[in-house]
Amino acid sequence: MDKKWVYLFKEGSASQKNLLGGKGANLAEMTNIGMPVPQGFTVTTEACTEFYIQDEKLTEDIIKQIESNLSTLEQQTGKVFGNAENPLLVSVRSGAKFSMPGMMDTILNLGLNDETVEGVAKITGNPRFAYDSYRRFIQMFGDVVLEIPKYLFDNALEGKKEKNGYKLDTELTADDLKELVKEFKQIYKSEINVEFPTNPENQLLMAVEAVFKSWNNQRAITYRNLYDIPHDIGTAVNVQSMVFGNMGDTSGTGVAFTRNPSTGENKVFGEFLINAQGEDVVAGIRTPLTIDKLNEIMPEIYDQFINAAHTLEQHYKDMQDIEFTIEQGKLYMLQTRSGKRTAEASLRAAVEMVGEGLITKEEAVLRVDPKSLDQLLHPKFDPAELKKSTPIAKGLPASPGAATGKIYFTAEEAVAASLKGEATILVRKETSPEDIEGMNKAKGILTSRGGMTSHAAVVARGMGKCCVAGCETVNVDERKKTMTVNNEVFTEGDYISLDGSTGSVYKGIISTVEANISGNFEKLMDWADEFRRLGIRTNADTPTDAATAITFGAEGIGLCRTEHMFFEESRIFSVRKMIISDSLEQREKALAEILPVQKNDFKGIFKVMGIRPVTIRLLDPPLHEFIPTDEDDIKELAEAMNVALLKLNDKISSLHEFNPMLGHRGCRLAISFPEIAKMQTRAIIEAAIEVSNEENIKIVPEIMVPLVGKKEELEILRKLIIEVAEETKKEMNSNLEYLVGTMIEIPRACITADEVAEYADFFSFGTNDLTQMAFGYSRDDAGKFLEDYKEAGILEQDPFQTIDQDGVGKLVETAVKLGRNAKEHLHLGVCGEHGGDPASVEFFHKVGLDYVSCSPFRVPVARLAAAQAALNEK
Ligand code: ADP
Ligand code: MG
Ligand code: MG
Repeated sequence: MDKKWVYLFKEGSASQKNLLGGKGANLAEMTNIGMPVPQGFTVTTEACTEFYIQDEKLTEDIIKQIESNLSTLEQQTGKVFGNAENPLLVSVRSGAKFSMPGMMDTILNLGLNDETVEGVAKITGNPRFAYDSYRRFIQMFGDVVLEIPKYLFDNALEGKKEKNGYKLDTELTADDLKELVKEFKQIYKSEINVEFPTNPENQLLMAVEAVFKSWNNQRAITYRNLYDIPHDIGTAVNVQSMVFGNMGDTSGTGVAFTRNPSTGENKVFGEFLINAQGEDVVAGIRTPLTIDKLNEIMPEIYDQFINAAHTLEQHYKDMQDIEFTIEQGKLYMLQTRSGKRTAEASLRAAVEMVGEGLITKEEAVLRVDPKSLDQLLHPKFDPAELKKSTPIAKGLPASPGAATGKIYFTAEEAVAASLKGEATILVRKETSPEDIEGMNKAKGILTSRGGMTSHAAVVARGMGKCCVAGCETVNVDERKKTMTVNNEVFTEGDYISLDGSTGSVYKGIISTVEANISGNFEKLMDWADEFRRLGIRTNADTPTDAATAITFGAEGIGLCRTEHMFFEESRIFSVRKMIISDSLEQREKALAEILPVQKNDFKGIFKVMGIRPVTIRLLDPPLHEFIPTDEDDIKELAEAMNVALLKLNDKISSLHEFNPMLGHRGCRLAISFPEIAKMQTRAIIEAAIEVSNEENIKIVPEIMVPLVGKKEELEILRKLIIEVAEETKKEMNSNLEYLVGTMIEIPRACITADEVAEYADFFSFGTNDLTQMAFGYSRDDAGKFLEDYKEAGILEQDPFQTIDQDGVGKLVETAVKLGRNAKEHLHLGVCGEHGGDPASVEFFHKVGLDYVSCSPFRVPVARLAAAQAALNEK
């Protein structure tokens, strides 16, 4: 049999989205469940592919099938295409598998010409309607198929109105419209030197070709790139008999959702216009009425429509977005698809549909996009105000939420202003650990450099604070305390607003509304917990972060960084003393000052976490990060420490590194200066013993050695940690249990993981560094070229956000296999930023990790993503 290129609506079904496109498949499905759908047929996506194979020509075969389906449509409708007495008019609608703005617009009223228009006028007894439809068709066809600028038609229309002193389109008479049709046709001639095609069959084939061609127009290509839609799947074309919403006061057209798309409330939400066609509702030509009004104007139609909406929702088991038209008191359904909704609506609808028995808990858990949960946990801008604002710059959406406040360029000033009760935004080129306090007090953070895993981004996400990072078009001058955007200079105290979910920066104040986590949220999370296998921990460095994470459902801490503990105002001095000490003795003295404060930090965290596991990482960053850079600060330090400025400067330059990320950091520090690791171990063990005793609970601290590349590093440090721990236990007369493990973040450690495992009770994959080192992309500088790489098709996603499964992922997989071969019960987790990214979580589930760890505000995202990974596996 010949290949089937064309399907009648009644021959298709919803399962054929690949072949018929989304619109076509659903028109078919609606037809089959008895909805009043104007009949028609769909030219398949395969025909589109064939069209391109044939150098942008429709084959004889396809044309033949279109013609034969057209005659079936004539029989179905009792009308004849091109017939002057009883003409069939159709719409030509594009429809790919995925809804794709940017492709060809729909053409309505196709089939009209100088003869058929008279037929329509006679049958309807309404020549004005007939000529209005005709002029609309000529205009749409010219614009969409032949790309004649729309304004030429608009100008002609306006000219006609002006000449007659009309204000509204509706004032144009049948005769005016008749003249307008002539003028429009003239535009075809003068613009592109073609006659308006009067033969309906030609009109139809030209329109079908135009839809296929629009698949590869620039707008469509750009859109597909943006949303990762393949370029080779093609679009379908739907040819559908026309119904008219513009035939007077018993006609109309509208769109509706089966539930409220912003709140999720289970009540049909929609708008309609009386006496209007097609997209008049969306185009905002007149202000539409809410769907409730339909109940007053046409109660019977209203009931029919509500029933139809209900039937569709029951059938699809999901919220539907519906287009309908009423032609002289008769209802027609023109489109249905799953409705786009806010995170709030998605959550509410999913949970309520379980209550209604429409879907199962599993389906509800699968239906909510984990990424969208972010929206629910953070403040957002007042939507009405946001609509009125345009961004002045766009950076990376580094940490979600919305913030508005006065700008400050140093952490100290942000802190001071915040303490005075001002809402502040900290603006920096990039942040460093010294800025923590300012970041903490500010409402939001804006940086002009750095990527999604820059210091600012990581810390802000941890704090649940809004952050826009790497906003390169903002020129920050920290010395002058200005930021310049498009030649406009902002100074300290000026107001700006940030949207950390989109990366947009706005001038001035936009008010924010607080997040509202309703009962539905918890319910869905509980269901998610029933289905997931992965454990969910959090990355938290303070008792406050830890507590927040617990309320979001964290089951432990997967990464507690200790460097922040060195940075606090009151202790940085001791830390600096320790660093510039010349002798072991001096260094140990300084460390002895730090020990009690660090122990207290750990106690605070253990108290909040109780018996939940806590992984603490030994000091990781290079020492120079703790040393002042400012001349005055250095002077001050020299005086306070009673060392010669020259000597101090020498010491500081000796700490300088060309490539600190690959320099003297992580376990390398502990190898050179074991006393630092010793102090930290003692602080951890003492804290754990004390809290265990005080609270009468069993705490098992997990001590993690960063940046191991060779097993010997871990071998030496494990021995050292155990020595100190045992000594401490003996002194304190305790039988505390503890674990010693390592962060796997160096490729070499991955491929020798069996050796490393010998000395590790656990592995925690530090996928930020692992990605940095596997690719050789500096995570602080990669922002400069990642976009180019995406555009050139080298990278599909930012590998610092979503794990690169083929490369970095392979390293992880290898380490899992080797590690578990060497040690069957090796406990495995991930603590890089990827632990809160849904696609990455799914990957970690598949490779068999025990848990993922992410910043507190991403814990719910990880819980849901982990559940979906488990359910999708079934
Ligand atoms: P889009 O994908 O942009 O929504 P559609 O193909 O759905 O485009 O069509 C645009 C408008 O024209 C919609 O309001 C739709 O309901 C209306 N429309 C499409 N086909 C017909 C038809 N056969 N009769 C009446 N109105 C139609
Ligand atoms: Mg539509
Ligand atoms: Mg690291």
